[in-house]
Amino acid sequence: MEKLGNVIISVMQDLSKVSTNGHAQICVNESICEAERFEKLFNYFSYGTILEHIDLDVNEINSKAKCVCGYSEAIEGEHPGYIRCPECGKYAEIKDNSYRIEEPNPQKTQLRKSRTF
Ligand SMILES: [Zn+2]
Repeated sequence: MEKLGNVIISVMQDLSKVSTNGHAQICVNESICEAERFEKLFNYFSYGTILEHIDLDVNEINSKAKCVCGYSEAIEGEHPGYIRCPECGKYAEIKDNSYRIEEPNPQKTQLRKSRTF
C-alpha cells in the first residue's frame, strides 16, 4: 500500500497533465485516507499551484479481491494480500488500487495545453 503523501503527489501530477475545467473527481482507497481528509490535504498542497482553484470531489474505494472464477469482493482494512475464495476455494488476490481519477477521464481528456483553466 502506498503512503498517503505519495498518493497526493501522484494525484496532483496526474491532474496537472490534463485539462480539468476547474473540476475533478477522484476515488481514494479508504485504507489510505478518508475522503474528507484527502480533500483538505489536497487543498493544502495545491495552494499556489495551477491546481489551486480545482474543485475536487473525493470518493472512497475499497481494496478488491478478485478470483479467477469471477468472484470479487470488497475488502476493508488490513489484509494479508489474498483471501480464500468462498465460491471455488482457490486463493484470490487482493488488489489495492491507491486511487483512481474519475473526472476528467484521463483517456478522454486532452492534455493540458495552457496554464489557464
Ligand atoms: Zn473463486
